[in-house]
Amino acid sequence: MTTIAFIGLGNMGIGMAANLAKAGHEVKALDISEEAVVRAVSAGCVGARNTKDAVEAADVVITMLPAGAHVKMVYGGADGVFEHAAKGTLMIDCSTIDVASAREVIGSATHKGFAMIDAPVSGGVGGAAAGTLTFMCGGTLDAYERAKPYLDIMGKNVFHAGDAGNGQAAKICNNMLLGIHMIGTCEAFNLAEKLGLDAQTFFDISSTASGQNWSMTSYCPAPGPVESAPSNKNYEPGFAAGMMLKDLRLAQEAATAAKAATPLGTQSEAIYSLMEAAGKDGLDFSGVMKLINGTLYDA
Ligand code: NAD
Repeated sequence: MTTIAFIGLGNMGIGMAANLAKAGHEVKALDISEEAVVRAVSAGCVGARNTKDAVEAADVVITMLPAGAHVKMVYGGADGVFEHAAKGTLMIDCSTIDVASAREVIGSATHKGFAMIDAPVSGGVGGAAAGTLTFMCGGTLDAYERAKPYLDIMGKNVFHAGDAGNGQAAKICNNMLLGIHMIGTCEAFNLAEKLGLDAQTFFDISSTASGQNWSMTSYCPAPGPVESAPSNKNYEPGFAAGMMLKDLRLAQEAATAAKAATPLGTQSEAIYSLMEAAGKDGLDFSGVMKLINGTLYDA
């Protein structure tokens, strides 16, 4: 049995912490929300009062926080993880954050003698609860190999993407591509309809032709062809447009810093920001169909 401090027990963290507890580890659960800690305790974790209480006896610290600023504060801030963790503690940040912050925090951890990786996930709340997440990890091979047994409990696919920050890089590049092909798929289905082709006929043709892609075949944004898709449930998420926008913004931040040309990534961010401006970013990200076909603003 390992003692694991788990910090950040929101939609994702609660399922992940529960799975570690279910596997027989002692999970010291911490969140700024007391309600979240109570939920974690009923899922088999031990409630922690503060960072010191959570991490001082922990072999492993796992964080699942909203953004880079939270991660920097939780690890490096006054009274943070670095201040209270014992020598040799392994640190795993599973939050989706900007590449620069990930590299900065892992750099500080290394400087202080801790092993740390970034390990953002895909798979959503369902995957977190079911223990079927995909982890994309960045950091030394040694730290990755120490982390893998814990990631295997919470996930199904675990990849080492290279040095510190490369997990975040893999995650945002993948999601930028997903945003782009989702919007392209919406445009194609909308044009097809305006030209008199029904969605199922276009799906049957394009899904076996060169326009085929995951947004079409597994998650079709036009209602009808893919029964399980959010388009058949009034675009209930799923993966919310607001979460997609967060990842597209992170991709743009990274692209600017790396001087990488991402003209379609830039457009995708602008398009999803219109969903946010309309107050519709709680819809599934395939709900961008409604922006493209002009029904987003309908009552
Ligand atoms: P969430 O907002 O539900 O949870 C974040 C939790 O962190 C909250 O409970 C909050 O109270 C806690 N928190 C914030 N600051 C804290 C602090 N200083 N100390 C302790 N706790 C603190 O978010 P989520 O949906 O669970 O997502 C977490 C991360 O996972 C994000 O980076 C997100 O981008 C990423 N992610 C989410 C999904 C998804 O489908 N929700 C999918 C993949 C990745």
